[in-house]
Amino acid sequence: MARVVILGAGISGHTAAQHLQRLLGKKGHEIVVVSPNSQWNWIPSNIWVGVGQMAKEDVTFPLAPVYAKMGVDFRQAKAVAIWPEGDASSERAQVEVEFTSPERAGQRERIEYDYLINATGPKLNFGATPGLGPDGHTVSVCTYSHAEEASKKLQEVIARMKAGQRQRLVIGVGHGTCTCEGAAFEYTFNVEHEIRQAGVRHMAEIVYFTNENELGDFGVGGMSFMQQGFVTTSQLWTESLFRERDVRWILGAHAHRIEEGRIHYETLDGEDHVLDFDFAMLLPPFRGADLQAFDKQGEEITGDIFAPSGFLKVDADYTPKPYDQWRAEDWPKTYVSQKYANVFAVGIAFAPPHQISVPRTSPKGTVITPAPPRTGMPSGIMARAVAESIAEMIEGKASSPEHHASMAEMGAACVASAGKGWTKGTAASMTMFPVVPNYQKYPEYGRSLKDTTGELGLAGHWMKTLLHHMFIYKAKGRPGWSFIPE
Ligand SMILES: Cc1cc2nc3c(=O)[nH]c(=O)nc-3n(C[C@H](O)[C@H](O)[C@H](O)COP(=O)(O)OP(=O)(O)OC[C@H]3O[C@@H](n4cnc5c(N)ncnc54)[C@H](O)[C@@H]3O)c2cc1C
Repeated sequence: MARVVILGAGISGHTAAQHLQRLLGKKGHEIVVVSPNSQWNWIPSNIWVGVGQMAKEDVTFPLAPVYAKMGVDFRQAKAVAIWPEGDASSERAQVEVEFTSPERAGQRERIEYDYLINATGPKLNFGATPGLGPDGHTVSVCTYSHAEEASKKLQEVIARMKAGQRQRLVIGVGHGTCTCEGAAFEYTFNVEHEIRQAGVRHMAEIVYFTNENELGDFGVGGMSFMQQGFVTTSQLWTESLFRERDVRWILGAHAHRIEEGRIHYETLDGEDHVLDFDFAMLLPPFRGADLQAFDKQGEEITGDIFAPSGFLKVDADYTPKPYDQWRAEDWPKTYVSQKYANVFAVGIAFAPPHQISVPRTSPKGTVITPAPPRTGMPSGIMARAVAESIAEMIEGKASSPEHHASMAEMGAACVASAGKGWTKGTAASMTMFPVVPNYQKYPEYGRSLKDTTGELGLAGHWMKTLLHHMFIYKAKGRPGWSFIPE
């Protein structure tokens, strides 16, 4: 009987666990999930926690009972190292974990595996910019606890405005190489909406602070789409929203130091600037979970398996190439490790071959380009594909992974909230196909104009609320969960 170990119980790891259990659970195989947090978190709705519209309990649920019901072995622990060839005492591949549950905190254990899925998501690398993050001078909405703190600070700012003090709120990204600009965009407009609802919009200056070269880039190089028979761009569309809501923007920015109430940053033209703030939510850059790897003799082989960013190298073409030589085929299809045929990485944990946005560097050599987003939908789709491939290999139906989920061949839908409320809410709903532009197939715009769309309105808000409930229902493994798409 085989054992599959999944590291991480976020969007991709939990999806992989659910599908593996569906495919293999009743056939005597073992699914083990290792994750340091006892809670599952629907991260997209942390935005609403960050403005006080939802509580932590609305976006989380305890994992242990769900896994117990599913028959998945859950270990509340964090993976620290992998031994893909086994060690001196055992031939079997192993992962070393350190428990985080109160009862076993700090204890270490080795878990043997036949297949391993690394779904450890991002390590929030606040340390890349001195002063960034909740331990420094800015807030974050990356975790539900961060978002709760952001909401508290936002209420303080609103109270100051009510007392007659003008306030500057800066929302965006805290380093030139950040990703997830869509989340910063969402938080900007949710904050704007809350401040308007509080009746103090005239007291607030809101600044969107980003590493994108133009508005609407979102780390995917922007989008072109057809509207009423005309081709328009995400830049035009986004810019009109910023103008309408009176949100100022700073583009091509790399924050290199943050002090109390002050961001020091460089822009793409190489100039240095300072921006004062009363409230700042700046997302951190991401890196991999920094797992180590060792061969059978105990020699460290981390660099053979992981990219310097800490993300796991999979079946992508990592040869450094200039932008005009980037191809859709560079992107991974099966997410299998280049070195070990039973090791996979999905979601944010796999190393992308290059950015999607045009790479840009300042005259001082500072890289100021969004890293490629691996959002919820692609993360779920690749997790399901990997689960299906592994299930087939375990059952002897395939000798190598046969399910493909390249980001250059899949579409994605993203609904970015621009303010919550059944009648007053809005959201920007976007679809793109494919996520990674394919200029060989779509020479003009890199994507299908027919399948790339953008709409702004109240209906998008209803959709975002529906997705919140649907994905939490699905993650709880309630009846019919597998019919809800990733
Ligand atoms: C504020 C915000 C809003 C967002 N909004 C949207 C949205 O509207 N739509 C959308 O599509 N995407 C959105 N995203 C992106 C989306 O959340 C990610 O794409 C998605 O969570 C990636 O899934 P993942 O499984 O790779 O990582 P995660 O969901 O982050 O899961 C990683 C898991 O690994 C665990 N882990 C970490 N280290 C270890 C370790 N050493 N060992 C074992 N486990 C470990 C973590 O505890 C976690 O359980 C948003 C992101 C943010 C931050």
